[in-house]
Amino acid sequence: MTQSWRLLRILMPLAGRRSYGKALTTLTRDEMQFKNAISHFAKTAIGPKVREMDENYQFDSALVKKLFENGIMALQIPKAYNGMEMDFFLTILAIEEISKIDPSLAILVDIQNTLINSLILKLGTEEQKAHYLPKLSKYLVGSFGLTEEGSGSDAFALRTTADKVGDKYVLNGSKMWISNSDLAGVFLVMATVDKSKGYKGISCFMVDRNTPGFSVGKKEKKMSIRASGTCSLHMDNVEVPENRVLGKIGQGYRYTIGFLNEGRVGVAAQMLGLAQGCYDATIPYLLDRKQFGSSIFDFQGMQHQIAEVATRLEAGRLLVYNAARLVEEGGDFIKQASIAKHYTAELAGYVTRKCIDWCGGVGISTDMPQEKYFRDAKVGTIYEGTTNIQLSTIAKFVRAEYALNR
Ligand SMILES: Cc1cc2nc3c(=O)[nH]c(=O)nc-3n(C[C@H](O)[C@H](O)[C@H](O)COP(=O)(O)OP(=O)(O)OC[C@H]3O[C@@H](n4cnc5c(N)ncnc54)[C@H](O)[C@@H]3O)c2cc1C
Repeated sequence: MTQSWRLLRILMPLAGRRSYGKALTTLTRDEMQFKNAISHFAKTAIGPKVREMDENYQFDSALVKKLFENGIMALQIPKAYNGMEMDFFLTILAIEEISKIDPSLAILVDIQNTLINSLILKLGTEEQKAHYLPKLSKYLVGSFGLTEEGSGSDAFALRTTADKVGDKYVLNGSKMWISNSDLAGVFLVMATVDKSKGYKGISCFMVDRNTPGFSVGKKEKKMSIRASGTCSLHMDNVEVPENRVLGKIGQGYRYTIGFLNEGRVGVAAQMLGLAQGCYDATIPYLLDRKQFGSSIFDFQGMQHQIAEVATRLEAGRLLVYNAARLVEEGGDFIKQASIAKHYTAELAGYVTRKCIDWCGGVGISTDMPQEKYFRDAKVGTIYEGTTNIQLSTIAKFVRAEYALNR
């Protein structure tokens, strides 16, 4: 039996299950089994490829194939469309476990599950779902195209246009910083049908990679998550049929706000996993390494720092799991998603800096994993809303909560 089939046999019985443990970090038996299966996959299948993928600025194609074979790219897609029919919390556990080993590959899993599949599943017509979801379950990578050169944090200042001509929309414009666009076969592109309507003209279009006039630019050379290809997109009179509008015309801004909030919980899980992975790789070294006749771990000055990191990791996990459980419950979670994303992005920076310091010289060597975790952590304060944008969101809630009580 191949490794893929063994993992599938563990995952399939979990489809559709929903039951929570009492404490946020108490996992049900199913959740624990799933987490262990993903952890095993991450350590054995992903682990050996991490450094090579980082150095080559690309994912190993056989590994991406394995993600699909094991259902990891279709965690929440219903079985009717060849997916695993799992819930959001399990998706978050998967992102956390994969990020412990490779935060780059985790962003592929995160975006596919929490943005692309989720948007199509919740907004797609029956025809769109039947057309895309089985492919997204088995081999098709999707990318999410919002950001442009002139619109980053101010995302709804985008300039890409979609003009209605007969029964088609004609897209013109460019996107920047689009994750996994080197591999993607379908792109969810935000464009405006009417600039005069401001953000209320923004709509979401499903664009196939091979559509005439659509092209993907070269990969950015970057500090973080190097294996994940981040490219620009260019649209020159790209014709998109009416039946490839996702959701309603003019509602793109609402979908973006809504789904990016779930995406933020995904990035929070990525940053949490990254921080935990770096810590896990460091503590055994501190126990082994001796200076002044004792292990580095034994110095009280070190133990206090290690305990501080352990405390913050625990706090980060509570924030992420709580936000994920709130998504599951269908309640309000925007503030909690921003808090979790902000906290864990800062946590990842803090933990990786500490781990490098604790390792001394070898901490910055590419023979050890800490320097890569440190580089990867930096992107957490930037994408899916910068730290300042998360803080502004949190502050909006604080203002509203206190205004209500006055
Ligand atoms: C590796 C990577 C992958 C990405 N993947 C995707 C993707 O798949 N799809 C996609 O659409 N986009 C993607 N992005 C884009 C990402 O979402 C943006 O980079 C991000 O939203 C910030 O926009 P910006 O880079 O233009 O920074 P800017 O908006 O120019 O911000 C620069 C600085 O100004 C601050 N700032 C801006 N406005 C305010 C304000 N109102 N108050 C306080 N401070 C403010 C910011 O916090 C930041 O510190 C990706 C980016 C990266 C780096």
